[in-house]
Amino acid sequence: MKLDVKVLRYMSSDEFRVLTAVEMGSKNHELVPLTLIAQIAGLRHGGSHKIIGELAKKNLVAKIKNAKYDGYRLTYGGYDYLALKTFVKRGSVSSVGNQIGVGKESDIYIVADESENQLVLKVHRLGRVSFRAIKSKRDYLQKRKSASWMYMSRLAAMKEYAFMKVLYDNGFPVPQPIDQVRHCVVMELIDAYPLRQISEVKDPGKLYSDLMNLIVKLAQYGLIHGDFNEFNILVKDNGDPILIDFPQMVSISHYNAEWYFNRDVECIRNYFRKRYNYESMISPKFKLDVNREFFLDVQVSASGFTKQHQEELESYQAELSEKQDIEEDEVGSISDDNSDYIEHENEPSEMIKDVEVSETEEGSHSDSEDLDSNPGDV
Ligand code: ADP
Ligand code: MG
Repeated sequence: MKLDVKVLRYMSSDEFRVLTAVEMGSKNHELVPLTLIAQIAGLRHGGSHKIIGELAKKNLVAKIKNAKYDGYRLTYGGYDYLALKTFVKRGSVSSVGNQIGVGKESDIYIVADESENQLVLKVHRLGRVSFRAIKSKRDYLQKRKSASWMYMSRLAAMKEYAFMKVLYDNGFPVPQPIDQVRHCVVMELIDAYPLRQISEVKDPGKLYSDLMNLIVKLAQYGLIHGDFNEFNILVKDNGDPILIDFPQMVSISHYNAEWYFNRDVECIRNYFRKRYNYESMISPKFKLDVNREFFLDVQVSASGFTKQHQEELESYQAELSEKQDIEEDEVGSISDDNSDYIEHENEPSEMIKDVEVSETEEGSHSDSEDLDSNPGDV
């Protein structure tokens, strides 16, 4: 999905107020009634009625009819807008450039900050694959009535940021995390290609052992990446690997830790065998090689991404992968070219400058990362 930056330029403060009102209303309404939107926005002379129509035309909100009343929901476009606006206010993003990746559950853009440093914006889009699929079992959502794409995407972004920060602060080769708002993370742009795109590695033995050492070191610090594959390892010109993509990380105290650990190890072993014809006699063993020394998993929960958030996200991910397994079986075969994102190398590289975003007069909307105030029931 494209980020429509034009919309950002031409939004009035009243429109922003109404959009924010829709977001706030969705805390406890799956469909936010217009009367509630008008009440929260507090515009005079029924101003919200006209504006909501304009927001709908711009695809920032969607009008939905249900049995009882007509109401509005924030769209991904609207949620993107609100996140970008906060980044702009904080100075972490001031322009948006090319989209460089489209994953199953994320879009990746090049952006620039106020000082024109290029950065990466990762927009989490959980629920793009199929949200209907996971609506059947939702005990993990507890009080929340429905699985919300907004809530899940936001959890994924919070998790990614929390893990990246702890890893970066402890000297792991990961991008520097810059900022996180709603379902978006801003991070350092790494000047490197994914291993997947590197047909010849100068010294496969060295890279292989660097990667295995990284898996073991992570585990010694209490963590397992969980998706340690050729798409999530960027290799710099000097051969050093950088690890990305953290929404599925687990603690080594997870009941399935050994299984996740072995899967990461096997993934690298298989890839090196198939792609570089390299096979090592040695590969790490969970029980022998992992002596836990540090507790980064504990640091992560202390950072605000709690065990309960972890469990909610994990249940969602588990259900989704079950569903995908079934679908893949139905289709019959899984393509060997496991590519889960599309590269857009040839798009014009014009950066859209000075994303202007207007302020509300009161600047009253809080971007609090407190999840109690998170719109969970869309
Ligand atoms: P997904 O969850 O969709 O797999 P990733 O975080 O793995 O998302 O990013 C998808 C792709 O975007 C990566 O394979 C890589 O090519 C590119 N990418 C992501 N983050 C960065 C970054 N910080 N620097 C450079 N490229 C990146
Ligand atoms: Mg990835």
